Amino acid sequence: MQYLPGQPQDPDELRLELLRRSAHRELAAIYSSVLGVGLIVALQWTRAPAALLAAFVALRFASLLHNHWLARRLLRVQTLHQAGRLPLRLLAGVSFAGVSWGLPVWMVADFPFDGRDLVMVVLPLVATVLMLITAAYWGQSMVVFIAPMWLTIGARLAQESWTTAWPLFAGIAVLLAVVTIYGRQLHRQSCEGVAAELLSRRLSEDLQRANARLEAALQHAMNLATRDPLTGLLNRRAMVERIDAEGARLARQAQSAAVLLLDLDHFKLVNDAHGHAVGDEVLRQCARQMLTALRQEDLMARWGGEEFLAVLPGADRATALQAAQRMRAAVAATRLPSAPGLRPTASIGWAIWSPPQSIDAAIAEADTGLYRAKSGGRDRVEPAT
Ligand code: GH3
Ligand code: MG
Ligand code: MG
Repeated sequence: MQYLPGQPQDPDELRLELLRRSAHRELAAIYSSVLGVGLIVALQWTRAPAALLAAFVALRFASLLHNHWLARRLLRVQTLHQAGRLPLRLLAGVSFAGVSWGLPVWMVADFPFDGRDLVMVVLPLVATVLMLITAAYWGQSMVVFIAPMWLTIGARLAQESWTTAWPLFAGIAVLLAVVTIYGRQLHRQSCEGVAAELLSRRLSEDLQRANARLEAALQHAMNLATRDPLTGLLNRRAMVERIDAEGARLARQAQSAAVLLLDLDHFKLVNDAHGHAVGDEVLRQCARQMLTALRQEDLMARWGGEEFLAVLPGADRATALQAAQRMRAAVAATRLPSAPGLRPTASIGWAIWSPPQSIDAAIAEADTGLYRAKSGGRDRVEPAT
């Protein structure tokens, strides 16, 4: 699929990514939560009613475990469909977390309160602000957290006289208004950021795939241009280029190479007796066998119809002769299941090429050797002279 900048994003993909980030944030909240609970218990130990403190701790940890468990499951899903009701259940868990964070205000014995109780009031404020981070990815979680929390707090404040309570209510109203405005802005910006990130991730994946296809097509085109389609060996044109490069290298290093010209014997008879398809198969199999007789750095090409050229850099006369014999034996050992009686043989002429001598001269010498091999009875190896 192609995605262009500005094209609408898959909404499910974006939604899932936002949920994932909320789940990560939920997992990260465990540390601040435990710290907050510890602080409250330490400050309110023997001060607040034991039942209230126990209810707070129980509710806090129940909600923490529940949300942690759900968040981990949410991180494992691959599609929004797989997520099913997990987001809803997490929202419910978050609203319980909201109630639990409202409870510390119930531990405040008197309004106005002293320093210790101040913390009970400050913590819900901190929780509200921290919740902004989650709200950046999941607006509803902010609502379901803050509403129950501040309702729990409001229920406590409502027990105070109106003169004490109204400035607090006013303060809460201002706080919630500010948090709502900033929360919405943050949410919008984060969604845009995540959408852009998903788009760029997808574009770069598309680009990587396109590059891989291009590379494969290029490789294919290179093969077509440089390889003989029947045997897979270098074709004549590519061989000439490789020989030119090799010649320059050999001349620089004052080295020589062996040039082997190989021609299958009586190949016309093979075609006549077994058919052209079998002839093709003989060419393929002989080429494969001959390659096994050469080294990695040797060059071999299909030079003409049933004629092959091998160039062995660095080979002296003894090495050239051995390699030529190995190639001759490789052809003679080739067997075809489709024509079991067929015994292909090859004649080989060879010469030593010492650049800057021209390769054509060396090939002409090898050709003289080949002629001698043919006239000497075939299935043999002969040097130029
Ligand atoms: P010699 O031992 O003297 O080399 O005899 P020869 O029959 O091999 O030589 P000749 O030049 O008379 O015949 C070569 C034959 O190779 C003729 C041609 O049809 C066949 N040939 C060339 N290219 C191909 C090919 O790609 N496939 C098949 N099946 N045959 C081919
Ligand atoms: Mg021949
Ligand atoms: Mg020939």
